Amino acid sequence: MCEVIPLLDSSLVGSILESKISSDRKNQMSQTLNRFDLDDWIASLAEAGWRMAEIGASEGAAGNLSVCLDAHVELAPRLPICKPYNLPVAVPALAGMTVLVSGSGRRLREVKQAPYENLGAVVIGPDGLNGWLHTAACCRFVRPTSEFNSHLMVHQDQMKRSPSSSHVLIHAQPVNLTYLSHLEVYQDTTYLSRQLVRWQPETIINFPRGIGVLPFQMPGSEALMAASVMALRDYALIVWSKHGVMARSASGFEHAVDLIEYAETAARYEVYNLVLGNRATGLTPDELGQIASAFGIPQQHLF
Ligand SMILES: [Zn+2]
Repeated sequence: MCEVIPLLDSSLVGSILESKISSDRKNQMSQTLNRFDLDDWIASLAEAGWRMAEIGASEGAAGNLSVCLDAHVELAPRLPICKPYNLPVAVPALAGMTVLVSGSGRRLREVKQAPYENLGAVVIGPDGLNGWLHTAACCRFVRPTSEFNSHLMVHQDQMKRSPSSSHVLIHAQPVNLTYLSHLEVYQDTTYLSRQLVRWQPETIINFPRGIGVLPFQMPGSEALMAASVMALRDYALIVWSKHGVMARSASGFEHAVDLIEYAETAARYEVYNLVLGNRATGLTPDELGQIASAFGIPQQHLF
């Protein structure tokens, strides 16, 4: 962990930023976060990265994390270097908001021990197209994750549809879910969802509408970004075929991590069952129906 020393120029840039974000916008913001609130968010992001590594979902530099905070955040004490930054996509609805994000090429498992080397914060400017990248002196990346376009567009869409003080996204590459998405039959939302909800009672409770599946699209592409925005309107977790998953939550990183764990565990059962020649039937439609009525989940096409 590097020593964090506020620099004079950061406060200058910070004051320019202050003047550019209109006072109206600041008044609309739901909160002001001080350095200790920021520490909590950084710890939570770092823990999520560690957990993704622990379950084998972020080998090497795979995976990325972000949280969009509808808040004025006191960044200078922790991330004192502030540079102008051109956003990869226009997100005017996020003007004034702060996005904490993992750095391009960084390992998620290392964020916990060295957060300031591996993450930064982007403050979205008033036009939604330019902003400022805040980092620490020991920062080891040049720009945010290469999937930042998808992160920003999904944050914007979700914040517009259901305004929230925070919105979290995790992209990870859990092995069993990703393996299933290499099989053509599983590249279908209804089929994959039906196969997975049968392994544990928790699965239908956590994914009452199922898990969305997208076809393979180039990582970091506009097509993947656009498809993710649409699919995450319906599903809290989506599979990027032959690549990995993206999970969203307005309840924090712990919830997004839980979603990935539940889905990946169900996928592990499914892979076991495939390997063993489909010897288990899993929860029957009738048993799933009983779970659904006990937890207030509508009867539906998944069972
Ligand atoms: Zn990836």
